[in-house]
Amino acid sequence: MTGAKQGGQENSVTLDLLKRKMDDFAKERDWEKFHSPRNLLLALVGEVGELSEIFQWKGEVPKGLPDWKEEEKVHLGEELSDVLLYLVRLSDICGIDLDKAALRKIELNAVKYPVNLCKGSSIKYSDGDVNSNQSNGGD
Ligand SMILES: [Mg+2]
Repeated sequence: MTGAKQGGQENSVTLDLLKRKMDDFAKERDWEKFHSPRNLLLALVGEVGELSEIFQWKGEVPKGLPDWKEEEKVHLGEELSDVLLYLVRLSDICGIDLDKAALRKIELNAVKYPVNLCKGSSIKYSDGDVNSNQSNGGD
């Protein structure tokens, strides 16, 4: 993913592209003064709440959301994007390289949850009880 322009359109999206667009957006509006780590975190949590509201009271829904109306999926895309964009902005303002941090975390998770011990099981390896039916938080 390069974020390079082709025919005036972005042909790929990267975290760096989103970071730069969020920075430009804030600068153009003189909103940088509001983008403190705490404010951004609270905004992120608020957007997670808005995302949760979409699923609230629906019960479990099948993958791909085949029964959802198009406008519901558009709304879902908007709220997912709000969460992503605030996460990217928060990371940038905190000086965290989210690309590197996310890749490192995947590697750490792979060590924490070795395939030979965790395959097909939703419990945490560290919990020890392989017969337990508790869900895996993945942290
Ligand atoms: Mg929102």
